[in-house]
Amino acid sequence: MMHYIVVTGGVISGLGKGTITSGLSYLLKNSGFRVTNIKIDPYINYDAGTMNPYQHGEVFVLNDGGEVDLDLGNYERFLDTALTSANNITTGKIYKEVIEKERRGDYLGSTVQIIPHITNEIKARIRKAAEGYDIALIEVGGTVGDIESMPFLEALRQMRSDKGDSMIFGHVTLVPESGSEQKTKPTQHSVKELRAIGIQPDILFCRSSRPLGIDARKKISLFTDVAGKGIISVYDVSNVYFVPMVLEKQGALEYTRELFKFDDHELNYTLREFTRNIEKPTEEVTVGLIGKYVDMQDAYISHKEAFSHVTGNTGIKVNIKWIDSDDLIKSTEQLDDLDGILIPGGFGYRGVEGKIAAAKYAREKRIPYLGICLGFQASVIELSRNLLKLKDANSTEFDPGTQDPVIDILPEQRGIKDLGGTMRLGAKTVLIKKGTIAYEINGSERISERHRHRYEVNPEYIERLEEKGAIFSGTDDEKIRMEILELNDRDNYIATQYHAEFQSRPLNPSKVHLYFIKKSLEYRKEKRGSIYAGSTE
Ligand code: GLN
Repeated sequence: MMHYIVVTGGVISGLGKGTITSGLSYLLKNSGFRVTNIKIDPYINYDAGTMNPYQHGEVFVLNDGGEVDLDLGNYERFLDTALTSANNITTGKIYKEVIEKERRGDYLGSTVQIIPHITNEIKARIRKAAEGYDIALIEVGGTVGDIESMPFLEALRQMRSDKGDSMIFGHVTLVPESGSEQKTKPTQHSVKELRAIGIQPDILFCRSSRPLGIDARKKISLFTDVAGKGIISVYDVSNVYFVPMVLEKQGALEYTRELFKFDDHELNYTLREFTRNIEKPTEEVTVGLIGKYVDMQDAYISHKEAFSHVTGNTGIKVNIKWIDSDDLIKSTEQLDDLDGILIPGGFGYRGVEGKIAAAKYAREKRIPYLGICLGFQASVIELSRNLLKLKDANSTEFDPGTQDPVIDILPEQRGIKDLGGTMRLGAKTVLIKKGTIAYEINGSERISERHRHRYEVNPEYIERLEEKGAIFSGTDDEKIRMEILELNDRDNYIATQYHAEFQSRPLNPSKVHLYFIKKSLEYRKEKRGSIYAGSTE
């Protein structure tokens, strides 16, 4: 028997469905079950590869090169596992497959319809992704009532009566406050909507600022036919890693086990010390994140999470100052009070000159520096312009006619027209030079890290850059290419072509993020002599 927990959302978007799904997954996995997660994104896009971070936040990258919704990042972090592209199902993937089957004649002349052809394809994909696990948690993107999610909800509804599948339906709703009263009406309406499409929820995850009062709880239970035990109050917490604890305290794990008729399993709660460090840090640093989507912080969620992982393991609180890179073109004043500078990945010319200015500032002022992907490339451009005196040095991504293309398109990328799924994507081996910082922190000459780029350091400039103090590590995967940049006159500067943030996990933080924060703390202490002893408030 395969066990599925479906998590839908109602009332408004952005209630933290992904975190609730991840938190419950964590509890079940740490109770000894084999657990996986599936995200359904009802949009027509084939995957998240071509999506603008302004709308959906960061594009997360998997080992297999899948460019997926950022919720897959949450699942990986909470489950401490690597997922595959099959764990993200979109309308685009379903329709593409069904239309291809129709063209091949697989449907033997029948009229191809949403029910049963699309719904059957959805069910088949869900079952395939769940193979080999005890429980699969399926999160349905969007809010119930959206036209786009209807075929998915219909497929999931059908699964309740399909043999071999045991289903639990969880629904995330909002309980707002008016005065001091918790209002249940939006939840009632949202459940009504779900029931109208034939789904009676078993569990309601009620989001509210404070824990749900007894009156609200009773009322919701009465109007929705969800048992009292199934009303789970998910009140606001300051950090996502508190969510499993809230869910456990509110009885979500116990009730899930009861509904599935599972025997008692002992929970091995591994995040106790981690959350204690987040709650009561002993030190703090302020680092600048230089980006062009800084008012959409979800665009950089994996960096934010990687810093939480550092805090959870070290007790060093990381304050992120979100800095719009375009502002730095006029003045770098905003960088003056920082303990460290992070330049994350990005695409397109807008914002790049500000990032180059920040990389220069970090090098000249000897501030701890971490450059990732585009940040790595910005460093190489900066070194070329200012140390090699190649004033026109640039990436051909931004200036195709530059005199000095120090960053150039990967040879195998030439002539590629499609944008989706065509970059150098996913896990690749990185070779690390002995004696480098990268070697010191990884303790190995070979690591596997995730990638997402179309451009690289032009090999013709490497020797000249090395003469000026650059130290490169690379890879011989496909061809020699540069992966890590350090400077020979300091130990607080590291930039990587790979995205270490995608593999950062609560109990195993990204090595470069951890190192960067430790160096930022050293720098802060040297500069200010201050030691932090405050609370997280
Ligand atoms: N735009 C750059 C490239 O394609 C950097 C990509 C990134 O930062 N993810 O190589």
